[in-house]
Amino acid sequence: MVILVYHRFSDRVADSMTVRTQTFEAQLRLLKEHRYQVVPLRAVLAWLEEPSAVLPAKVAVLTADDGHRSVYDVLFPIARRDRLPVTLFIYPSAISNANYALSWEQVSVLAQSGLFDIQSHTYWHPNFRHERKRRSQSDYARFVRQQLEMSRERIEAHTRQPVDLLAWPFGIYDEQLMALATQERYIAALSLDARPVRRGVSPLALPRFLIVEATGTKGFAPLISDAAVRKLP
Ligand SMILES: [Zn+2]
Repeated sequence: MVILVYHRFSDRVADSMTVRTQTFEAQLRLLKEHRYQVVPLRAVLAWLEEPSAVLPAKVAVLTADDGHRSVYDVLFPIARRDRLPVTLFIYPSAISNANYALSWEQVSVLAQSGLFDIQSHTYWHPNFRHERKRRSQSDYARFVRQQLEMSRERIEAHTRQPVDLLAWPFGIYDEQLMALATQERYIAALSLDARPVRRGVSPLALPRFLIVEATGTKGFAPLISDAAVRKLP
C-alpha cells in the first residue's frame, strides 16, 4: 500500500511542488486501471494496529500538505466527484493569513464534507533540525511541544474534530521528535520517506511518496505496478 502526498494543483505549473490538474487526473486513472482502492489514512492505521486486520494489497491513501488554496479549488471538486477520502495537513499560522493558503471557512467546509480529515502539520512549519541547533535542549523540547499543541488546539477549535495525526514538516523526524509527538497525544505521523507502507513500520514514521509535476505518469506507474505489490511481504 502506498501513501501519496501532494501540495498544490493548477492548470499550469507555477513551481516544482505544483501538480497540473490533468497530471493528477491521469494518476487517478492509473490507480483505477491498476484496481487500486483509495482508502482513508485511518483505515491503514487500523490495519497497522491490528495484526489480524486485512486490507487489499492495492490500497492508496491521498494526503495533501500545507493547506494551499488549490486544495479547495481543484482537489475538493475532484474528491467529491470520485468520492475520494483525503487527509489534509495544515499549519494554522498560514490559514486565513498567507495569500496562498486556505481560509478557516474553507477548512470548515472541507471538514464538513466528510471526505477531508483535517490534521496537523505543526503550528508554523518550522525546520526542527535548524531549531534544535539554535536552541538549548530544554527550550527546543518546549518549542516542539508548543508547535504540536497549538496546532492541534487551533484546528480542533475550527473543525470540532479530533486532531491526532501529524505530518512532519520537511519530512524531518527522529526518536526525540517521535517521543514528543506521543506526549502531545499524536497517534501517527507521516514522513517523506519514499517507500510503500509495510507491517511493522512505526506509526510515527509512516513513509509517503512525494508527488510533484515531474512525477507525471512515468514516475507514478512504478509506484503502483504489480511488481511493486509483489515486493510486499
Ligand atoms: Zn509542508
